[in-house]
Amino acid sequence: MNNSEINSVLFPAIAAELKNMKYDDLNLKRIREVPIFDVCSKLGISLYGIGKLTKRTKCWYHDDKHPSMHVNKKKNIYKCFVCGKGGDVIRLVQDYDNKTFIEACDWLVSEFHVVLIEDKQPSAGNSSKSYSKMNNSGTNSDQFPSAAGSKTTSSLCPLPSDLVTKCFSLNSEFCRAVVSAGYLSDTQLRHAASRYRLGCTKEGGVIFWEIDAQQQVHTGKIMYYQPDCHRDKEHHPTWIHSLMKDKLPDNYELQHCLFGLHLLCPAERKEITEMSPSENATRSQISAISALSSTEDRSVALQSAGPKKVAIVESEKTAVILSELFPDFLWLSCGGLQMFKPELLAPLVNHKVVVFPDTDETGEAYKQWLTVLQQAAKLYPFRYPLRISNLLELHATPEQKSQKIDLVDFIFEHG
Ligand SMILES: [Zn+2]
Repeated sequence: MNNSEINSVLFPAIAAELKNMKYDDLNLKRIREVPIFDVCSKLGISLYGIGKLTKRTKCWYHDDKHPSMHVNKKKNIYKCFVCGKGGDVIRLVQDYDNKTFIEACDWLVSEFHVVLIEDKQPSAGNSSKSYSKMNNSGTNSDQFPSAAGSKTTSSLCPLPSDLVTKCFSLNSEFCRAVVSAGYLSDTQLRHAASRYRLGCTKEGGVIFWEIDAQQQVHTGKIMYYQPDCHRDKEHHPTWIHSLMKDKLPDNYELQHCLFGLHLLCPAERKEITEMSPSENATRSQISAISALSSTEDRSVALQSAGPKKVAIVESEKTAVILSELFPDFLWLSCGGLQMFKPELLAPLVNHKVVVFPDTDETGEAYKQWLTVLQQAAKLYPFRYPLRISNLLELHATPEQKSQKIDLVDFIFEHG
């Protein structure tokens, strides 16, 4: 399989979007679950009646003297009992607002923060339940400036950036193990380590830095790996900021950012351009961007560089390995199941984001991450719908789920 074929397996919804088949059946089903009373309210349709499940309004298809249009909350449909017209929420938006089918779907996804799902039909979940909860508070996205991402870093007191340069090394057990366990070739590992700026401690621990798109160093996580590339459980991870706590300025306050976020920066894109001829067209644009000096100018230029396809996973190891196997995507990691928070997504409002939760026996990780995406979609003005992959929920065996495997384990076991 070539890369684009692999991508269409891993990212079916995005592949469909590229082919203009924008929404598959699963996601249309999710769109049709947007509560019809909320849709009416957003469209300015006044509903009458004291029934909890059914309300009425004047039919807009015919000259209606009395409210003949019935809107049913349970079935999530509407129907006029005089002229017979009716349908689901998509049809409602199409007809009432004079939109095409796709325009109506786009509008519903954006207004009601629908998180789209990658891959096929999941086992019957309770997505519609959690759905109605999240629509209760209408967030006005206008109140957020388009550069919402910079908000999270404006008051940051970063760690000195030469720390990253000084610690850069391929000598960690992690780097050795990624190659010796057969995940990446030596060349791939060198490329990935340099892009992610992996460091090494005296004891052979790997340093995964958290550096944002403005190149500010938030902190670094030191982790220990065994030669088989699994975590060394004897050695607990430690943080650079806690090791340095006596030397930190008084105003240092820890704010996490996603591992790999610095790769959004144009200077990093330049390196990517040199690797892949297909992006050569933007070379002059990129050097122009690199010439800009102030952070503010750079973030403006960054936006004009166009949306990137961003994939978020739990572990740094997975991000590093998949960045070489699926270079069409920018692979970021949040560092752990509980570390995934809505505010981490703020810098990604202009990009196409898909998340890959790890799997487990109960589907808890998947549900937690879906909730975080729904919160983020309400908080920040994302230009593209957020997506979550249910690949592992659907295709991992019960045994794999009990081992809490992630995307790399899955790909290599199925390789
Ligand atoms: Zn009618």
